[in-house]
Amino acid sequence: MSLLSLHALRAFYGPAQALFDVSLDLAEGEAMALMGRNGMGKTTTVKAICRMLPASGGLHFAGHDLTRLPSHRAARLGIGLVPEGRRCFAGLTVRENLIAAARPGPWDMGRVTALFPRLAERASQRAATLSGGEQQMLAIGRALMTNPRLLILDEATEGLAPLIRQEIWAAIARLKAESGMALLVIDKSPAELAQVCDRATILERGATVWSGSMADLTPDLSARWIGV
Ligand code: ATP
Repeated sequence: MSLLSLHALRAFYGPAQALFDVSLDLAEGEAMALMGRNGMGKTTTVKAICRMLPASGGLHFAGHDLTRLPSHRAARLGIGLVPEGRRCFAGLTVRENLIAAARPGPWDMGRVTALFPRLAERASQRAATLSGGEQQMLAIGRALMTNPRLLILDEATEGLAPLIRQEIWAAIARLKAESGMALLVIDKSPAELAQVCDRATILERGATVWSGSMADLTPDLSARWIGV
C-alpha cells in the first residue's frame, strides 16, 4: 500500500488554478524525485501535500484523506517538510531550533548531530549566524526532529557551494539507506537525484506527464521534460 498517494490532484492560489492533474504514489521507505522545469508545479504540489493550499482530488497519506485535514494535523501524521528557502528561527540557537521541533521517536539531538556534526559544533550559536549550508542542515535537522514517516526536501541544495552540496547529498543518501523514511526530493540536478532516488515523477504545467523508475529516465525524456 502507498504511504502517500496523489490522484488527479488540483490546487489553487486564490482563484488561480496551479495544479490540474498531479498523480503520484510513494511507498514506505521509497525515495522519489519530483522533477520538471521552473514553474511547473513542484513547490505547489508540496504545499498541497502539507495542506498549505486548498486542493481537491485524491490526496491520501497513511490511509488518511489529507484534503479533510488542516496543516498541523497533516504534520502530526508524519509529514516532515524542509521548505524552499530553509526558514529556521533566526533568533534561537541551533539547539533551541531543534528542540522546538521535537516529537517522540528515534530522531533526537544526538542522532541529528551525528548526521550533521557541524550542528553540534554550532549548538549554542543563534541560527542567524550560520552559513547558508549550515542553515540548510538545521532545516533538515528540524524536520527530522519531528520524526516523520515522509521527509520532503524542496531544493535543499539551492544556492550552496559545491562542497556543502556534497555533504547534504551524502546525508540524504544516508537517510535513504539507514532510516527507512520515505523521501520526496525536489532538486535542479538530475545526476544527484539519480544517486538517491528510486523513482521519478515529472510535472509539466501542473500535471504529471511521466512517472517511472529513475533508470528508465532516458536522456531523451530528460531533454523533453526537464530541459537537460
Ligand atoms: P520552481 O522550480 O521555479 O520553484 P515549481 O515547479 O516549484 O518551480 P511552482 O512554484 O509550484 O513551480 O509554481 C507553479 C505555478 O504556480 C506557476 O505558474 C506559478 O506562477 C504559480 N504560483 C506559484 N506561487 C504562486 C502564488 N503565490 N500565487 C499565484 N500563483 C503562484
